[in-house]
Amino acid sequence: MTLDAVRRELRAEEVGAELHDLIAELLPFCRSITGDGVRQTLARLGERIPLAVHEVPTGTPVLDWTVPAEWTIRDAYVADESGRRLIDFRASNLHVLNYSVPVRTRLPFAELRPHLFTLPDQPSRIPYRTSYYNENWGFCLAHERLADFSEDERYDVVVDADLSDGHLTYGEYLLEGESSDEVLVSCHVCHPSLCNDNLSGVAVATRLAQLLAGAERRLSYRFVFVPGTIGSITWLARNEAAIARTRHGLVLTGVGDRGGPTYKRSRRGDAAIDQAMVHVLGQDGRAHAVEDFSPWGYDERQYCSPGFDLPVGCLMRTPHGRYPEYHTSGDDLDFVSAEALADSLDHCLRAFDVLERDSTFINLSPKGEPQLGRRGLYGAIGGSADKRTDERAMLWVLNYSDGEHSLLDIAERSGLPFHIVAGSAALLSEHGLLAAAGRTATVGT
Ligand code: ZN
Repeated sequence: MTLDAVRRELRAEEVGAELHDLIAELLPFCRSITGDGVRQTLARLGERIPLAVHEVPTGTPVLDWTVPAEWTIRDAYVADESGRRLIDFRASNLHVLNYSVPVRTRLPFAELRPHLFTLPDQPSRIPYRTSYYNENWGFCLAHERLADFSEDERYDVVVDADLSDGHLTYGEYLLEGESSDEVLVSCHVCHPSLCNDNLSGVAVATRLAQLLAGAERRLSYRFVFVPGTIGSITWLARNEAAIARTRHGLVLTGVGDRGGPTYKRSRRGDAAIDQAMVHVLGQDGRAHAVEDFSPWGYDERQYCSPGFDLPVGCLMRTPHGRYPEYHTSGDDLDFVSAEALADSLDHCLRAFDVLERDSTFINLSPKGEPQLGRRGLYGAIGGSADKRTDERAMLWVLNYSDGEHSLLDIAERSGLPFHIVAGSAALLSEHGLLAAAGRTATVGT
């Protein structure tokens, strides 16, 4: 079955609910850039797709970085003198500063206070904070909970954690296609109980992999589930051969909030994935944004660093930092919607369909319009809205199939969706009216 046919069989409500359920299943694990939270997450994904899990030892040099010590967190709390936990890791894993060094002490509030992180402008939310590369310990809590503390009391502070030699863990799944040319799909798996910022991308990537596994594939697809920054750097340091085969790529992140889709172009700016995504979002007819590359954001920063400059863009909904729930306990199951998740998955499928099928043809009957009715060509294209659309698509394809214009060019020029244009080209080819002129620059490197 073609990817387009797989896509058209999906029911948005069903698939959205499945994606939301997967997020709920992965939510409790206390992920970080290393440790068991990542392993537990990858194990659950491994029940759905045959993931290869890689363990890279602490101290391994990776590009300009070094794989850090592994963080193991068992418990963390601040308790008053009666033993009552005022901040409790068991209630939310956001409460502990991610990568906190172990601590076990009793302190007056004045000494505890510099280790407490809150959001005064969002007093009921717990912030998400990390300290990967600075040794520190700390707790995050709702600002309004500071009222529970007293200047006169002393507090028991416990972070029951280890920071010691271990591994950085990442998951990888290669789906081979007819060609060894690869599409890289990457998402980060290092945030603890946050839904949009990381689990939405993880869920969509996993479902995408399952769907691609059941589709005919010209291209090969490599899915990587990596801790942000250090994970993609580790993957890049270890995968020279795969990097050389990467023709297209997409970072998936923040694809579940209710905002419209945002696509961030690759550093190249006009790579095939950029053209495909811009077309797909434009075809939606709904509000969306396309942004140029910038060297901040997610792992596209690493894939698009100048020494690699891979054609990797980033699909999201509302960009990070532009919604108040970002990196707070407000990024929860209610913040991500089944509808947005299904919509993001559909955008990926449609863009990958462009990558799979875009090519250039030559009209073999270019003098005057060939008589389509005689050939039974009206109303024969799967998935189009009506006969008039079919007819228009065929006329566009015939007119611009001059060896110069790709199907995506024709789709853009005509305003028709790529899958309709590609469907009509397939039909015209079957009827001997078109011949392949070869793959275009759009599909190449
Ligand atoms: Zn984040």
